[in-house]
Amino acid sequence: FLKGKSAIITGSTSGIGLAYAEALAAEGASVMINGFGDAAAIEKERAALEATSGAKALYDAADMTKPDQIAAMVQRCHDELGGPHIVINNAGIQHVSPIEDFPVEKYDAIVAINMSSAWHMTRAAVPFMKAQKWGRIISTASAHSLVASPNKSAYVMAKHAIAGLTKTIALEVATSGITVNCVSPGYVWTPLVENQIPDTMKTRNMTREQVINDVLLDAQPTKEFVQPEQVAALVLFLCRDEAAQITGANYSIDGGWTAA
Ligand code: NAD
Repeated sequence: FLKGKSAIITGSTSGIGLAYAEALAAEGASVMINGFGDAAAIEKERAALEATSGAKALYDAADMTKPDQIAAMVQRCHDELGGPHIVINNAGIQHVSPIEDFPVEKYDAIVAINMSSAWHMTRAAVPFMKAQKWGRIISTASAHSLVASPNKSAYVMAKHAIAGLTKTIALEVATSGITVNCVSPGYVWTPLVENQIPDTMKTRNMTREQVINDVLLDAQPTKEFVQPEQVAALVLFLCRDEAAQITGANYSIDGGWTAA
């Protein structure tokens, strides 16, 4: 149902973003993928997306800490793929530390990548979406857009901000055929989660198994990780014309975490 539409997905060389790109391509969208990683692996992913969609797939290396690179990526999508029709703000990093030991550089990076990049992407994409009278702006927020956990001050702050940006822009573009929503996963098994296990082991003096069962899955009543493909299925629904009246919403997909 996305033939003839283009999508930019930030942070799509891995994890949830890659699942978004695959799901959108499977519906025929042309996709612009983004993020860091091994050049050969990224090229393989790009080619596979093109084979899946039968439409173009491009890679753009824009660094989400650089507003000029973000704007250039949106313009490049417009020039080479049309649109953008769908923009998914997904790039994100994590750092786990008590605030008094939290490195200022890590704070700055989390705020830039997880929060400000979504504002810059939206600012650059809205004029194109208004002109074509159709758009979908979706951000990967987090259960941490709704509730907090200790030692994640920068991340929780940035994700709460994503929920606020979502509501604000939804109101601004409400009559332009553009919807703006965010999705809030609980723990999804991706490199982002795997990589925070060693730090949590250190700060909480726990074994790997204790971190997985007593910290990560402790928050999730289903006691199961969310799968990237499940988050992608929710985002795909938000791209449908049937979802035209869903805007300004924050959808939890967290195994019951925020119900508790
Ligand atoms: P991941 O580490 O697998 O992927 C992160 C992606 O962001 C990668 O493609 C990486 O290259 C890219 N990226 C990092 N810094 C970048 C930069 N400066 N510029 C451009 N791209 C950059 O992580 P993931 O778990 O798939 O996370 C994706 C999003 O989902 C993040 O916003 C994260 O906060 C959110 N999220 C994840 C979980 C989870 O449990 N994994 C839960 C809730 C929300």
